[in-house]
Amino acid sequence: MKVYDRLFIGGEWRAPAGTGTIDVVNPATEEPAGRVPEATEADIDRAVEAARTAFDEGPWPKMAPTERAEILTKVSQAVQAEMGELAVLISTEMGSPVSWATLGQVFAPSMIFDYYAGLAGTYPFDEVRQGVMGQVLVTGEPVGVVGAIAPWNVPLFVSAAKLSPALVAGCTVVLKPAPETPLDAFRLAELFTDSGLPKGVLSVVPAGREVGEHLVRHPAVDKVSFTGSTVAGKKIGAICGEQLKRFSLELGGKSAAIILDDANLEETLPMLLPNSLMNNGEACVAQTRILAPRDRYQEVVDALSERMSAMKVGDPLDPETEVGPLVAARQRERVEGYIKIGQEEGAKVALGGGRPSGQPKGWYVEPTLFVDVDNSMRIAQEEIFGPVLAVIAYDGGDDQAVAVANDSSYGLCGSVWTSDPDRGLEVARRVRTGTYMLNAPIPIDFATPFGGFKESGMGREFGPEGLELFLEQKSISLPAGYTPSI
Ligand code: NAD
Repeated sequence: MKVYDRLFIGGEWRAPAGTGTIDVVNPATEEPAGRVPEATEADIDRAVEAARTAFDEGPWPKMAPTERAEILTKVSQAVQAEMGELAVLISTEMGSPVSWATLGQVFAPSMIFDYYAGLAGTYPFDEVRQGVMGQVLVTGEPVGVVGAIAPWNVPLFVSAAKLSPALVAGCTVVLKPAPETPLDAFRLAELFTDSGLPKGVLSVVPAGREVGEHLVRHPAVDKVSFTGSTVAGKKIGAICGEQLKRFSLELGGKSAAIILDDANLEETLPMLLPNSLMNNGEACVAQTRILAPRDRYQEVVDALSERMSAMKVGDPLDPETEVGPLVAARQRERVEGYIKIGQEEGAKVALGGGRPSGQPKGWYVEPTLFVDVDNSMRIAQEEIFGPVLAVIAYDGGDDQAVAVANDSSYGLCGSVWTSDPDRGLEVARRVRTGTYMLNAPIPIDFATPFGGFKESGMGREFGPEGLELFLEQKSISLPAGYTPSI
């Protein structure tokens, strides 16, 4: 059991202002896995003050981006050096199957650090532009103090997605991890310290939503970078809007996988299913609505049932496990509530629907397949965030498939499966989501923008676009005959 009695404030381990603690509970055993101090508003104030001073007076924003990037490279190497331990730590916090966690929860963050370390050397922070009235220096400056708020489902991944571009840009950051997953965030703080991050640049203050909201409202925070639920995102966006504070939101999803009538299911399902049930279904990009042409509906259901029933459910630390426990008893109640709602709405459970036998402890739910689902049902419209899929029939060809996919308040991800890539690309262009997979197994490429249309978010992380979330653009008109060296 990992116990911390201090918070990481301004690059130092400091005694918390309050006496509250957060207990981390292992979702597979329901046993304690760690304890950390719970940050209070006073701790947030101290962290923001340290970040403000480091931004306004410190060397950090004035350093060259490539110098700042050297720290990211060191952190990436450190993360890779303890990939196995970190995967176990995160799995113990939130139940991710360790084989998936190794790649998705740990190796992927190291790739994100590396991508932004590389971009620091190539991104045009300064550009002399020939304007219509003369030469202008267009320069990207760090936006300032960043409040970064992360969810529990991919904690290190989201920390990397926010810290990498923010730090390359020259911002200072107060990171508030979710209360379920503070341990990996504290380990990351240690790795940043070991890698030479100057004092004041990073704070890590685990707490719940009220204290998180204090960070959002704090007048000395210039920008909020939030990943989490759409409900919280709307609240945070409203607060930032009132203050004209910069903000970006990565929110929920209810992504549709469109199986076209010419799809080869033998090729499709091994790529699609891991995306539908990744991370126990606790993934924003999970492809949880499976859209099947009516005349192939039963074939799709049978093929999905066969593969899902063969999935290994159990101890997330077993490398063979494909589906582990949900993060908390509360989350299992939520998922079971949706299974009940689906049945009340008239959908049928073709597979699963209960708790797996042989798991006396742990917050497990069986991989569950709903059939006879209408897209208007709540189980097709709302994010369940568990291993529950809905198969929805469509008539009328590609147009109807696109219409059903787009009949959603979300627009984060999606996919199309076909033996004709041209036809698939046409569908991909018409679905209103920010990220899409055409016969492809991986939804996110860190060199390209990722984010949501509609209620799935605002702004794009990753790629140069992700760096630009942390830059203010400034135009400096230059005198005739003068060209600065940049
Ligand atoms: P959540 O919104 O309940 O909490 C996310 C984080 O925000 C936590 O740290 C929480 O303490 C904090 N928080 C909540 N309300 C807040 C408020 N009003 N002010 C400040 N902070 C607040 O979400 P969750 O249950 O932890 O995470 C699951 C959600 O995250 C799902 O909806 C999932 O789709 C989404 N998600 C999105 C992405 C993406 O990139 N789009 C990635 C991962 C998760």
